[in-house]
Amino acid sequence: MAERIVIIGGGMVGLAFAITCQYALPHADILVLEARPLPTGTPDPLDTRASALNLASQSILSALGVWRSLEVSAGVISQIHVSHQAHFGSAMIEGSDLGVPDLGYVVENHIIGRGLKERADAVGVTIKAPCEVEYLSTSDAQPAIYLATGEILYADLVIVADGNQSSLRHQLGIDVEWRRTGQHAVVANVSFAGSQQGIAFERFTPSGPMALLPLASSVPSEQRFNVVWSLTEGRARDLMTLDDEAFLVDLQRHFGWRLGRALRVGRRNTWPLDRVRVREQSRSGFLVAGNAAHGIHPVAGQGLNLSLRDAASLGATLKVASAGGRNLGDIATARDYEHKVLPDQGRIIDATDLLSTLFEPRGMAFDLPRDVALTSLDLIRPLRRHIAERGTGLDTLTNPAWEALFSAPVLSAV
Ligand SMILES: Cc1cc2nc3c(=O)[nH]c(=O)nc-3n(C[C@H](O)[C@H](O)[C@H](O)COP(=O)(O)OP(=O)(O)OC[C@H]3O[C@@H](n4cnc5c(N)ncnc54)[C@H](O)[C@@H]3O)c2cc1C
Repeated sequence: MAERIVIIGGGMVGLAFAITCQYALPHADILVLEARPLPTGTPDPLDTRASALNLASQSILSALGVWRSLEVSAGVISQIHVSHQAHFGSAMIEGSDLGVPDLGYVVENHIIGRGLKERADAVGVTIKAPCEVEYLSTSDAQPAIYLATGEILYADLVIVADGNQSSLRHQLGIDVEWRRTGQHAVVANVSFAGSQQGIAFERFTPSGPMALLPLASSVPSEQRFNVVWSLTEGRARDLMTLDDEAFLVDLQRHFGWRLGRALRVGRRNTWPLDRVRVREQSRSGFLVAGNAAHGIHPVAGQGLNLSLRDAASLGATLKVASAGGRNLGDIATARDYEHKVLPDQGRIIDATDLLSTLFEPRGMAFDLPRDVALTSLDLIRPLRRHIAERGTGLDTLTNPAWEALFSAPVLSAV
């Protein structure tokens, strides 16, 4: 009988894991269960959410046959400008620091979701939505999934990708380290006059870090940016109550005039930015993935990128396990996976934690070294190269673990 993998959660991560599993095991039966109806339609260009995808993600998505449907709608990041509001230090990181034309891409989440869904359908993944999972059982002979409809499904492996608030990981007895950061993100698309130059901005303000990610133009005379501004809860609440004009004035006061006058803002959303990290990622027959395993601060835009690398590592692990006649849900298979992903996860979580607090207001004694560090980053190319390699994921592309899944030329194609 064909091996069966059930993925719970049809968010960007659940779908990416599904495609990767099908790619690794073409004959396996891969099923995604998503509680909500999958979104359809196209939101207003000023009301969309977006994700920065780094070069490693682009490479993985290309290898999985997803990138071609995202490429045409991707905003290009050719430079990253890092600055500290009201301080002298700033730095510009460019593709030439790494010998690549672009440092990454910004794609709207509804486009990523649609591209993943279409590819999942094309490779033979079955998606059931709406379909809510109520309960997981570890005591049956096989991993068992109890649906809200009363139906029970069995699988060789269950991947739990049900998001930050995952109730299912709790049922598996998987403990989480939950750190309240006290920060909230205010997210909105903002447009400025002029054509898109492909510069992403990371600005450290006294209220918190602010990222402006360049979106593909929807109107030639306006450049759209996805703004992710991390703030204290009270400050985020205040920003949410401002009218559009007052919000743009506040944004401009903190961001400055590098892009000229901010013209328009779309619908604003806000999220708490708690840091969630599971203490274990598996039980026999079960794995947790995506935000259910690690919900990290969006300051460096790494959450989805990290999960795409996790997916590639799982695909490689399952391919080897299946070829060796091992059960996909064996705890030894889970350990192989964890061995591959834990160092990468730890490195990204620690770096993101550090970056989210590095520029918090701490007085003049801290300002000078931070500004000197930013200026040094601007002046010292090997330092810029080191940081750019981490951010773009280029340092992970030669991951030997993935060779079982992808051919080396695919991964060096960026
Ligand atoms: C403001 C912000 C900006 C970000 N920017 C970036 C960025 O630029 N780059 C980047 O790489 N990452 C970024 N991230 C991180 C990225 O968005 C997340 O890593 C990613 O969305 C996690 O997806 P997920 O599928 O794990 O979770 P979710 O998107 O939460 O999906 C979980 C799914 O599971 C379903 N579900 C839940 N319970 C059940 C159940 N019982 N049965 C069936 N289905 C269920 C839900 O309906 C949902 O669809 C950002 C995050 C934030 C908050």
